Amino acid sequence: MRAVVFENYEQFPSLTDVPKPEPGPGEVLLRVAGAGACHSDVSVYRHFKEGQPGAQKPPFVLGHENSGWVEALGEGVSGRVEVGAAYLVYGPIGCGHCRKCARGQDTYCENAATMPYLATGLGRDGGMAEYMTAPAHHLVPLGDADPVAAAPLSDAGLTPYHAIKQALPHLAGGGRNALVIGLGGLGQIGVQILRALTGATVIATDVKPEALARARENGAVTVAGGARQVEEIREITGGRGVDAAFDFVGVTPTIAAAAASMAQGGRLTVVGIGGGTHEFSFFTTPYESYVTNTYWGTVEDLWEVVDLYRAGQISPDVERFGMEDALEAYRRLEAGEVSGRAVVVP
Ligand code: NAD
Ligand code: ZN
Ligand code: ZN
Repeated sequence: MRAVVFENYEQFPSLTDVPKPEPGPGEVLLRVAGAGACHSDVSVYRHFKEGQPGAQKPPFVLGHENSGWVEALGEGVSGRVEVGAAYLVYGPIGCGHCRKCARGQDTYCENAATMPYLATGLGRDGGMAEYMTAPAHHLVPLGDADPVAAAPLSDAGLTPYHAIKQALPHLAGGGRNALVIGLGGLGQIGVQILRALTGATVIATDVKPEALARARENGAVTVAGGARQVEEIREITGGRGVDAAFDFVGVTPTIAAAAASMAQGGRLTVVGIGGGTHEFSFFTTPYESYVTNTYWGTVEDLWEVVDLYRAGQISPDVERFGMEDALEAYRRLEAGEVSGRAVVVP
């Protein structure tokens, strides 16, 4: 079958033929409906070096944001998983036997250091292929919802959802303000989730005018990048600053802008893996504020994201690419030419 394979560190992936996989015990075989191209894949094949934190050993099939139809059940899989039905795949794979895995938080598996891979599409074969395998207990049913448009929810939806859910205490109450920096795959759905879960004013910023226009359609107030950015955010919030900021870029200037835009007691979550740093000192961070990071989300979060999707409260913007154009999707992602999320439909 055709697949997008990450062959070696610091090397653009290739489109090639690989054997069709077989489901192991407790797993299912899925015919892939859609596989989202996440910006983290660019870090995987462009930047990570062997042994570096986050680096996953090649070769493997990319695609950690997947949906598909169950084609076959591996040994011991319950008949509750329906052959032929559409499911979203929760990507992270932990040991399955620690307290974090027990609560569906495979992302923070206590035995991650001894696991051979992080997730489907990150160290283990993913969904940029005609077929993939996944643990049966990591499937979330999609019912009659469009599985192609749903594919990005398993990362571009789940990651902002988890980050926002952790910040909800900061956004409960009248007159709250939230800031979203970086309005690509994750950021646009992040704006939609903030609008669905909170009454906060959502302020959004990006370097691309088209991304700002889309965020306004999603209900955000937008601020262009540049020297006056922080001043404008302060003006919109009546001088107070934002109660929660989400940085989906994560370079030093965006973290600095987010920190400077925060209210006292606010929460800044860095989600983007741009490698930026934040200098903490008594005067660089508003009083009693929090700076944190989040990684992906839990299986339960993903069920909640699917509930929002099926209720029509969030809807990812997708650009569809055929399998033969999958590498073009990555080229355009790197060039900043994708609007919303590129989804490969094998
Ligand atoms: P994307 O390429 O779809 O979107 C990035 C957006 O950021 C684009 O709209 C771009 O114009 C904008 N941008 C770039 N530089 C900017 C700047 N200096 N100021 C303002 N806007 C800027 O990327 P994505 O797939 O949404 O991923 C976003 C980030 O999140 C990446 O770093 C990715 O690796 C990371 N990520 C983290 C997690 C996690 O669990 N923490 C999960 C998935 C992705
Ligand atoms: Zn990702
Ligand atoms: Zn575990």
